Formats: sequence, C-alpha cells, structure tokens
Amino acid sequence: MPTCAQITRRVQNEHIELAQAKADRSPVTIADFAVQAVIARELQNNFPEDGLVAEESGGFFQSSDNILPAVVAQVQQIAPETTTQQVIEWIDYGHNTKARRFWVLDPVDGTKGFLRRMQYVTALALVVNHEVVLSVIGCPQLDLFSDQSGFAFAAKDHGAYWQPYDRRIPPTKLTVSNVDKLSLATLLRSFEDSHTNQGTIERFVSIANIKTDPIQMDSQAKYVLLAAGKADILLRLPPDDRPDFHENIWDQAPAYCLVREAGGEMTDREGNSLDFSTGITLKNNSGIIATNQSLHAQTLDILAQLSH
Ligand code: AMP
Ligand code: MG
Repeated sequence: MPTCAQITRRVQNEHIELAQAKADRSPVTIADFAVQAVIARELQNNFPEDGLVAEESGGFFQSSDNILPAVVAQVQQIAPETTTQQVIEWIDYGHNTKARRFWVLDPVDGTKGFLRRMQYVTALALVVNHEVVLSVIGCPQLDLFSDQSGFAFAAKDHGAYWQPYDRRIPPTKLTVSNVDKLSLATLLRSFEDSHTNQGTIERFVSIANIKTDPIQMDSQAKYVLLAAGKADILLRLPPDDRPDFHENIWDQAPAYCLVREAGGEMTDREGNSLDFSTGITLKNNSGIIATNQSLHAQTLDILAQLSH
C-alpha cells in the first residue's frame, strides 16, 4: 500500500468517530498536513531546486497546536526519526508559483468525501514553464478495472495509466470513451451542490436529452473515471452565489495532464485553454469542462446557449 494511502486510511480509522455529533474537520486537517509533509520531504530530497504549491501552510499550527502532535505521530509512522520541527519545515517548504519548475499538491482532495468515507484522492502535478507535464492521482477508494484502489498517472506525450495498489501487474493504459452522441453521454459532477451549479447542469441534461443521472462524486477521482472511459462529460461550473469563483490549481493541474493524455479535452466553460501561469488560482478561466474527444464542441455549444 503506498505511503499516502497508508496515512489517510490510518487517520480515518484513528480520528473519525463512527457517530460524529457535529462536523469535525480535524481528521481531514491531520491527514492533509501529514500527507503534505511526507510528499514535501520526498520532493526536497529528490528535487531540491523545485518549488511546491500545496493547499496547506504551516502557519495554521500557531492557531491550532492540538493538531500538530497528531500530524507528527502520523509522519513518524512512515519516518520514525522525524521531529516536530522537521514536519513544520516540510509543510512550509515551497509556495513559489514563480519558479520555472514547481509541484502542485492537494494532499487530500475531496475533504468531505474523506470524512464521509467516500471518494477522495491525493493529487500531485509538476508544472514546468507554465505547462503541466506530469500528474499522479492516488485513489484509495476508487473501484476501477476490478480493483478497489490504485493510482492514475500521466506524463506529457507519454500517455495516461492506471496502476492498482494491491496487485503487481503492468499499468493499464487509460483512454477516454468514444461516445459521440450527447444523449448517450454519462455526466460527472461534484457530490456537493455548493461546489458546482446544479441548475445549469440540470438544464444541460434536459437540452442534451441525457436520460441517465449524473455520477456525483467528490475529488479528482471524477477525472480518473473520465480518463478511463467510464464516463464522458465532466461539468464544473461556478455556483450562482459565487459567479466569480476561480479554481485552485491543485484541484485542476493533476486532472489536466491525465485527461489530455488519455485523449480527452479539458478547457474552461468558454472553450479557452486552462492557463497555469496565473499563480494559485486559474484567474483567466471560469468553470471547467472535461470531455472525451468527440463531445467537447457539442458540450460547449449547449453551455453557450445556456449563458445567453
Ligand atoms: P469537488 O470534489 O468536485 O467537490 O471539489 C472539491 C474542491 O472544490 C475543493 O478542493 C475546493 O478547492 C473546491 N471548492 C470549495 N468550495 C467551492 C465552491 N464554493 N465552489 C467551487 N469549488 C469549491
Ligand atoms: Mg481539493
């Protein structure tokens, strides 16, 4: 079992109460920081010149001291000699989107899914000269090709692949579907209504005459299903109450390389290329549309109709 999935599963077992009385986000915070620390440590050891842009920053510990010992305990399960100071330094390493090469990390993407014991992933990408050239999406809960967990990975111009965690077999190449009729498409959308625009998605389904219900799923696991050809269109649209919402790069960069290397298309809602040169958010893009090769233009056409 890969290191990050060991951490997230152990935190779920040790810190999520079976009947949690009120929403307690501390398990996800512990897992986030612990995974980020071990990945930052590896990156520092192997690529000391590179930057890292990740969701968490160590400044949090000043206001939440009770979390830190639990984070250190998790990291020590992986690297027993680790000190508290090292954990803080690893978490604070990087944060430089101006670097020519930087890594982008969402240690636990799909935090609500993690707490509900549904889908979440650990997502990592490498950006060189504003281009995403590598991605790895670890999926501890994803049922794909008869495996219950595994990781998807892709490198620019080298394709996209799935590797199960628990079986030593050659990686399976990922290829998007060839469904070319909108009415036959399977849609993917966020599990949380507040992370997308439910109304627009419902109108899209109606105009496209799609009969099957969208798959609602947390995290970038959605894009792994798209890359594997298990679904055909992913719509991610700003909610009505946040029309100016711009995506964080750690929520899109890992998916971007994967989907494109699997033969799919991924743009914003107007068909513009995603611009990874604008810092930690995609300031030049609004909404995310990811599809197989055949359905992108038709999908954008309907969205254009809906925005008039
Ligand atoms: P999903 O797994 O599709 O629900 O997307 C999860 C990501 O959505 C999180 O990592 C957040 O960065 C992002 N997010 C959080 N709040 C919002 C929001 N109000 N609208 C859109 N995305 C959000
Ligand atoms: Mg995320």
